[in-house]
Amino acid sequence: MQVSLFRVSRHAFLLALALAACGPPENTVPVLCYHSVLRPHEKRERLHIEYALFRSHLARFQQAGFETITTDDLKAAIEDGTPLPPKPIMLTFDDGIEDFHEIVLPLLREFQMKAVAFVVPSLTGLAVKPPKWAVIARGERFMSWAQLARLARSGIVKIESHTLTHQSVYAGNDFQRRLEFVVSKVLLEQRLGVSIHALAYPYGAEGDYTPLTATPLGQTGYTFGFTTFSGRFNVGAAERRDPAGLYNAPRIWIHSDDSADDICNRLGDC
Ligand SMILES: [Zn+2]
Repeated sequence: MQVSLFRVSRHAFLLALALAACGPPENTVPVLCYHSVLRPHEKRERLHIEYALFRSHLARFQQAGFETITTDDLKAAIEDGTPLPPKPIMLTFDDGIEDFHEIVLPLLREFQMKAVAFVVPSLTGLAVKPPKWAVIARGERFMSWAQLARLARSGIVKIESHTLTHQSVYAGNDFQRRLEFVVSKVLLEQRLGVSIHALAYPYGAEGDYTPLTATPLGQTGYTFGFTTFSGRFNVGAAERRDPAGLYNAPRIWIHSDDSADDICNRLGDC
């Protein structure tokens, strides 16, 4: 969860400059990275968005004509040529924090939107402070398997992997990385009856392409690897099976005080 904010900010700034100059690049999809949405009146912290602010984001996306997609839609587009909507956007939520089920899901239903939840199977159902190796902002409660199953059945939320233990895959060795990728995928698929196609690297700011993470991710059956490196998903690069395009996919990090205007300025087309 702790990323190099300087790095995220620097790339976000450069992206905003490029978008201001010439609009968003063709054949790309903005993938937004959220974590947690607070219940009304809860205190805001760094990774948490207040309820009313998040609601205003969704309203703005809807007003601007964005249509939400999931990793399933992205996979169908690059593998089968299934067209994406004219103005796609992907909303992703890392860590599997319980407020996704309580707060985000009803809002998605209200706005008729879809989202992707990147979850950590070893934290599933934990209602106490997580172990030291998985320090996640405040003492979060994580969604239970029953809640994840409800999301999977909802038809509007795609569950994907955020590794097994939420440790940096850049720090471990090849065996540890493969274990994180394979075990999380198998657990989620068997417990929830879903297909896991994508993984969001914990922390994920070391977004420069590295075969150390991309190669084992591809070999263990994943189609996509998402970072927190700032930018838009390049559909053309993914269609060409460019490893960096598939396994080093950028996202747009949403800060707790980002207004709908702030996000629209970075998206460049709303
Ligand atoms: Zn995370």
